[in-house]
Amino acid sequence: MEEPRQTVLAVDDSLLNLQIISDVLKEECNVLLARNGADAIRIACSDPPPDLILLDIVMPDMDGFEVCKRIKSIEKTKDIPIIYLTGVNNEYDEEYGLRLGAIDYITKPFKPSILRARVRNHLQLKYYRDRLAKIGMIDGVTGIPNRRRFDEVLSLEWRRAVRSSQPLSMIMGDIDFFKNYNDTYGHLEGDACLRKIANKFCDSLKRPGDLVGRWGGEEFACILPETDLAGAMTVAERIRLGVIDLAIPHISSPIASVVTVSLGVSSMVPHPGQDPIELVRRSDEALYKAKRAGRNQIGVVMDQQLLLPHNPK
Ligand code: GH3
Ligand code: MG
Ligand code: MG
Repeated sequence: MEEPRQTVLAVDDSLLNLQIISDVLKEECNVLLARNGADAIRIACSDPPPDLILLDIVMPDMDGFEVCKRIKSIEKTKDIPIIYLTGVNNEYDEEYGLRLGAIDYITKPFKPSILRARVRNHLQLKYYRDRLAKIGMIDGVTGIPNRRRFDEVLSLEWRRAVRSSQPLSMIMGDIDFFKNYNDTYGHLEGDACLRKIANKFCDSLKRPGDLVGRWGGEEFACILPETDLAGAMTVAERIRLGVIDLAIPHISSPIASVVTVSLGVSSMVPHPGQDPIELVRRSDEALYKAKRAGRNQIGVVMDQQLLLPHNPK
């Protein structure tokens, strides 16, 4: 299928820089230009919005960091990927800039071929993400598969596990005291927190068949094909520690100074005639155990089949 021509917005107070960027990219995409932050935000809000923003940092009036912050705080523009293209070359600013939600940082002077290649890569990711969103498979807030997609994959993997008699595991995760988090820091920060946690779940799953989806509000579910209970426990512990490691402050949590998650794990070798809802029910029950036991921990529901005596009369 022919990919549509995408649009990049370049923001720089120097007309010469804008000219150079435009020359480098014009074969690749449409290029819109803005010479200050206010124009950049206005163009970002237009319809259709640009697919990508290249953003200078040092500019009079409003600097690039401020522009990034504002674009990320407007519902309509918050998902537009931003790349800094800047003469500011130090670790501190780069880290700060990325923390504001930008996806990349390129320093000037840049090599034209490298700029073109990076922009091309990011535009392609944007394109696939848009397509997935369009067909309703991706959660808008976190960018990970939504409940609908998760259910599809669960059903597929369930049938595969029935055929192969391999174990199928599920992890259900839920952020602890997330209502308090929203009440303390506001919903925008709440959404940002959800994104960080979603990314941590993604990073913690290592096998190609593994999948994490947003199950509901602040709940995430992982499906782990060909993985037994011990394997799933290892992954769950990696997620639990990884979330603590993010060190997202949570002053209104009664149990920790940072955001934590509780996880429920269960594993089954599914039999014909059973329904995947059984695995979901057990993971949910396991999660409830973890919550009841104090949160920031892992609950488990064992497969009762495995606990039955082998030769019942
Ligand atoms: P527990 O430790 O028992 O899980 O407590 P909790 O506060 O996390 O659970 P509860 O189910 O009481 O509240 C869930 C909260 O999650 C409610 C709402 O404030 C928040 N939430 C759900 N979906 C979203 C969302 O999309 N964005 C934001 N910012 N918050 C959400
Ligand atoms: Mg919760
Ligand atoms: Mg919940």
